[in-house]
Amino acid sequence: MGKYIFVTGGVVSSAGKGVTAAAIGKLLKERGFDVSIQKLDPYINVDPGTMSPYQHGEVFVLDDGSETDLDLGHYERFIDTSLNAMCNVTTGQIYSEVISQERRGDYLGGTIQVIPHITNEIKRRIGLVPQTMKTDVVIVEVGGTVGDIESLPFLEAIRQMRSDVGRNNTMYVHVTWLPHIAATGELKTKPTQHSVRELRSIGIQPDVIIARSDYPIAEELREKIALFCDVEAREVIPLTTCKILYEVPLVLEREGLGEITLGRLGLIRRRAPDWSEWEKLVASGDSDKSKVRIALVGKYVELQDAYMSVREALRHATLAVGADVEILWLHSTDLEKGKGWKDLESAHGIIVPGGFGSRGVEGKIAAARFARQKKVPYLGLCLGMQVMVIEFGRHVLGSESVNSTEFDRNTSHPVIDLLPEQGSITEMGGTMRLGLYPCKLLPGSIAAEAYGQELVEERHRHRFEFKNIYREILGEHGMVFSGLSPDDRLVEITEFSDHPFMLGCQFHPEFLSRPNNPHPLFQSFLEKAVERAQEVRQEESEALSESSS
Ligand code: GLN
Repeated sequence: MGKYIFVTGGVVSSAGKGVTAAAIGKLLKERGFDVSIQKLDPYINVDPGTMSPYQHGEVFVLDDGSETDLDLGHYERFIDTSLNAMCNVTTGQIYSEVISQERRGDYLGGTIQVIPHITNEIKRRIGLVPQTMKTDVVIVEVGGTVGDIESLPFLEAIRQMRSDVGRNNTMYVHVTWLPHIAATGELKTKPTQHSVRELRSIGIQPDVIIARSDYPIAEELREKIALFCDVEAREVIPLTTCKILYEVPLVLEREGLGEITLGRLGLIRRRAPDWSEWEKLVASGDSDKSKVRIALVGKYVELQDAYMSVREALRHATLAVGADVEILWLHSTDLEKGKGWKDLESAHGIIVPGGFGSRGVEGKIAAARFARQKKVPYLGLCLGMQVMVIEFGRHVLGSESVNSTEFDRNTSHPVIDLLPEQGSITEMGGTMRLGLYPCKLLPGSIAAEAYGQELVEERHRHRFEFKNIYREILGEHGMVFSGLSPDDRLVEITEFSDHPFMLGCQFHPEFLSRPNNPHPLFQSFLEKAVERAQEVRQEESEALSESSS
């Protein structure tokens, strides 16, 4: 039957519900329990794979190739467990399943209704998590905010779960936001009261309320929320915005949420939590370190959520390497117009992340050219590798028409082309090369040195690949194919032998980076960027002393 924690959100979206769910998972993991986390998304798309990053932020990819909500990235980073396709459910999936059953005649002429047919399918999906993963507790986050029309069937389903699996096996956590009124310097609890009232009108009484705010929350506010919302004061957990996300579990622990959760679910802890590693992690973000500037050249940079895992992977490397990283968010279309170059030139490292479609690609190619010529450390992720190949192809073949067929179907030199198996595909959703695939590394290469291994597995999400007929000519001019699929068919990693660190990978290493276990490619890249920053500072101080003497 299992134990379930349901996390709902009130007042506003983006209050940190996903991080809170992930942090609760961490509290339980630290007590020796196996945890999995599921997100129920109320939108009608089957998955976020076809959605614009502007609408949805990053698409997070799991080992099994599922394209999921970016909150699953938070979950995996906090609980350090690989999740599966069952862990992201959307209204689109629920309805397509129920409708296809109806078309098959499974309902024997019955009328299909939201209750019980849709809610039953939602509950079946929740039940699939403990069936497919070893787990003591399933944490279920309901997307959206209480009061949204779309989330009602999900809320009804989780309400029913309390009588289905029993009171002692369920816990409801409501995450709300306390607005701050600048004129009076006050935090307000009224929206929280309304949101809890709305939740109770559906039949859900929260066991715990997490009160989020950008400002410290006074004890009397805690008591006020408790009084109005029918919980004890200790069950109102104040959570002021933290400097580093990874501090959130430490705050929740200090406020006693770990033990409250065990008490609510009738669990006895299997071991005492040991926070020393995470405390060190959080503290290392505070100290004074040398400044390193990393340019992130993308085309969705207005919405940093579109690069959530890249930013976090860089942060993990930062904590390990001990640098103070400033990310320069550069728009690739700006570079095309001659803007933003001063920033790019000031960077000690350049990352070109993944992307789709031709807009802004020339700006990324220009950034790759700059990195190659000026020997600036460069990390290309998926499209970032393809861009590195196009740029070098143009240089070697002496033709600006070298391209990927994604951007120029009729290019005379398609150095990047559709994967053969992609040629006949017409559906867009879930049809890319997705998920975990092995990659063997060339001994002695930068990649092999970084990983310290010969065979690795990484998560993929792409339709295009390096075209093998160009391996020879580009290889002769210094491009090293340091990562290949075990059958040698697909190029997985490219690098240069005469550059301190210019490496592109066809996969997404950012999805496997963890706060206490940074990804080797990000770590090696950052180490080189730190070296470059030191060199630049050295040169600047030498130039200064020369000019003053
Ligand atoms: N658009 C490229 C492809 O489909 C790169 C994809 C990506 O960066 N995730 O191959």
